[in-house]
Amino acid sequence: MRHHVTLIPGDGIGPEVTAAAVRVLEATGVEFEWDRQEAGLLAFEVHGEPMPDAVLRSIERTRLALKGPLGTPVGTGFRSVNVRLRQTFDLFANVRPATTLPGVKVPFEGIDLILYRENTEDLYAGIEYFDERNQIADSIARLTRRGCERIVRFAFDDARRRGRRRVTLVHKANILKVTGGLFLSVGREIAPEYPDIQFDDRIVDNMAMQLVLNPSQYDCLVTTNLFGDILSDLMSGLVGGLGLTGAANIGEECAIFEAVHGTAPDIAGKGLANPTALIRSGEMLLRHVGENEAADRLAGALHAHYAGGEHLTADMGGPASTSEFGEHLARRVAADA
Ligand code: NAD
Repeated sequence: MRHHVTLIPGDGIGPEVTAAAVRVLEATGVEFEWDRQEAGLLAFEVHGEPMPDAVLRSIERTRLALKGPLGTPVGTGFRSVNVRLRQTFDLFANVRPATTLPGVKVPFEGIDLILYRENTEDLYAGIEYFDERNQIADSIARLTRRGCERIVRFAFDDARRRGRRRVTLVHKANILKVTGGLFLSVGREIAPEYPDIQFDDRIVDNMAMQLVLNPSQYDCLVTTNLFGDILSDLMSGLVGGLGLTGAANIGEECAIFEAVHGTAPDIAGKGLANPTALIRSGEMLLRHVGENEAADRLAGALHAHYAGGEHLTADMGGPASTSEFGEHLARRVAADA
C-alpha cells in the first residue's frame, strides 16, 4: 500500500532533518507519496502567508503529515503556525516519548517516559488582549471539560495499549483552582475506569524537580498545554537533547508528526542538526498507519546505530553531518529488510 503524506520541510534546520528522515523512511521499503508543501517563515516571505491554503488542502486530503519545525516571530508578528495547525485539525493529543538511546551520555540510564500534552487549549487558545490605556496584558488559559476528558482518556487508552502501568497527571491546581482544578477532577473521575493502571498526580513545579532528580520513578504523564510544552523539553534534555525526541499530534481525523525541537537557527544550514528526533517521529508515523514491522526495523536500526557509536552528529560528539547520519542509518535499515 502506498501512503500519501503531506511533507512540510519547514524553516531553519527543517529542510535538512526532513531530507534525512525521508531517506530513512523510504529505506524501510514502505511506499510513500509525498506532497511537499511550504509553510512558516519561508512561506510568509514568499507568499505573504505563513500557512498557505494549499497546506490545509493537502492535509485535508492526506490526513497525514510529516513536518519540520516552523519559525514563529517572538513577541510580535503572526501567530504560531504549529498552534494553528493543531487547532485547525483539532489535533488534541501531543504524544512525546523520551527514551534513552544506547551510548548517549546522560546522567540517568534507562529512561522510558511518555508525556501526553493537551494540544489545543490552555494559554495557547490564543485569547490574548492588550489594554493600551492601562498598559495591561491579559492571556486567558481556557480549558474545557471535553478537552480535559479526551486527553486524559487518550493517555489512559494509549498507556494501556502500550502495556504501561502508571499515569501521573501534572497540574497546578493549588494555585489555578478553576483550570487546574477542572483538569485534576476530570483525571480523578476517569481514572477508576482503568483499574489496571495506577493513577496519581503531581504539582508541576515539584514534577520538574522530581524528573531531574529521579526520572525513572515515572512512566506516563498527562498534562495541559503549557506545562507539557516545558516538561517535554526538560525530558528531551534528560535523554540527551532536543535532537533525539520525536512527537505525534493526533486528532480524530488526522495526524501530524514532528520533532519536539524548533528551527534551531544557531545551527541551521550547517549540516550540524541531528535528524534522530524527526526520524523517531517517522517511526511513530509508521506505527500510526499500521506499518509496525517497518517501524520495529527502523527502531532496531536506530538502536544499533547508536550502540555502534559511529556516524553520529555533532550534538552527540560525532563527526557526521545531518545527511551522512541519514545515509548511514538508511543503509542499515535497508540491509535489515
Ligand atoms: P530550538 O528547539 O529550535 O533550539 C533549542 C536548542 O536546541 C538550540 O541550541 C538548538 O541548536 C538545539 N537543537 C534543536 N534541535 C536540534 C537538533 N535536531 N539537533 C541538534 N541540536 C538541536 O528552540 P528555540 O531556539 O527556542 O526556537 C527556535 C524557533 O523554533 C522559534 O521560532 C520557535 O517558535 C520555533 N519552534 C518551533 C517548533 C515546531 O515547529 N514544532 C517547536 C519549538 C520551537
